[in-house]
Amino acid sequence: MGFNMAIKKDFRVTLSPEEIPKKWYNIAADLKNIVPPLHPGTKQPVTAKDMEPIFCKSFIKQEMSMERYIPIPTEVREKYMLLNRPSPLQRAVNLEKALKTPAKIYFKREDLSPVGSHKGNSAIAQAYLNAKDGIHTITTETGAGQWGSALALASSMFDIDCTVYMVRVSYDQKPFRRTIMETYGSKVYASPSTTTEYGRKVLAQDPKTSGSLGMAITEAIEVAVKDPNIKYSLGSVLNAVMTHQTVIGQEVMLQMDKAEIEPDYMVGCVGGGSNFSGFAFPMMRQKILKKTDCEFVAAEPKAAASFTEGEYRYDFGDTGGMTPLLKMFTLGSEFVPSPIHAGGLRYHGMSPLLSAAYDQGLLTARAYDQTETFEAGVMFAKCEGIIPAPESSHAIKAAIDLALEAKAKRKAKTIVFSLSGHGLLDLAGYEKHIGGKLSSSSRSKK
Ligand SMILES: *Cc1c(COP(=O)(O)O)cnc(C)c1O
Repeated sequence: MGFNMAIKKDFRVTLSPEEIPKKWYNIAADLKNIVPPLHPGTKQPVTAKDMEPIFCKSFIKQEMSMERYIPIPTEVREKYMLLNRPSPLQRAVNLEKALKTPAKIYFKREDLSPVGSHKGNSAIAQAYLNAKDGIHTITTETGAGQWGSALALASSMFDIDCTVYMVRVSYDQKPFRRTIMETYGSKVYASPSTTTEYGRKVLAQDPKTSGSLGMAITEAIEVAVKDPNIKYSLGSVLNAVMTHQTVIGQEVMLQMDKAEIEPDYMVGCVGGGSNFSGFAFPMMRQKILKKTDCEFVAAEPKAAASFTEGEYRYDFGDTGGMTPLLKMFTLGSEFVPSPIHAGGLRYHGMSPLLSAAYDQGLLTARAYDQTETFEAGVMFAKCEGIIPAPESSHAIKAAIDLALEAKAKRKAKTIVFSLSGHGLLDLAGYEKHIGGKLSSSSRSKK
């Protein structure tokens, strides 16, 4: 018997460090329906000056940019190597077999970053920009802890301090995330906390609140606006964050080119939209230019289904109303999602850039319940050996469904999805799922 493992030339497509992209792609240059964020008081488009109390100047410049390409500084590309960039594109051979599907399934491995997810791609960019502008401390929020871990590492790389407001439910469910952030030298508070006026107000009204990303953002911004040398940093939603993440999609395009992979579907999970946007936007440009028929599918949780249940309108990015008004798909800034384990997807809004693309019909969305996404995650783990993040399991569920639809239609479709992170720090969720104790949680009211 010959060596019968699937050593196909497309099993694992790798790139060399010199092939780390040299520029970020800004889809704002290619979308026609972009509208500016508005000042909450005057309702006029925000200016760079309006944003200066919150963000560092270099970041604001990128946030407002309409340039199609933004060069990636050498210092940032060097740090990307430490995140294991370029990351491999791998074929899910055993998952295909288990599904008995004629479809080919590939996944982009953002799980190989030392912080376990794609978030480092923007964290390193933001820590670099803040350090360059002479900022000594950055504040941020974190849901499941991935963004906090990524920014904690990036801050230590560029030698600045980092304070993290971690959503209460994750702080309790995922204590080791806090240890990771503290190991990298960051200060971590459970949010709502007693360290801010807003946090104290919320706790007085509801001492047992599980917290939310929206609340944690308000706290982190409050700390930043009080000191000119402290700035705030956000891990998703903003235009510049989507742009930073396009290193993922540019690598994927190069990899698909090298291995002659022509995708019918590109799939990703969406919380604030950054891994999916980063993964899909470079190819979406080809779609806008009518050079591909690839379909883009976003997978969201039923507990925070911004696309499938939300409205496209101006809304605040946070719960306390400190951010500019952003035009996006939203469930309302007061909305508190139920405490599902995919903490990174518990957000009321959606990236304005991705929202604009959705509004133009460039992608479709599907919403899933947490029990079915854990089932998909366990199936993927058994087949491919990688325990996926509960967030990423939404993308896996959508990819499996598309592969089964292809099977029903006897079509050999090609599906490429973003494996945004691993789930080795989400084992409490897996434990509950395996023990049959996981509630199916669809949308809940505040
Ligand atoms: C944060 C996170 C998400 C959701 O955030 P996006 O900005 O929508 O990408 C998804 N997957 C993982 C692993 C995450 O850490």
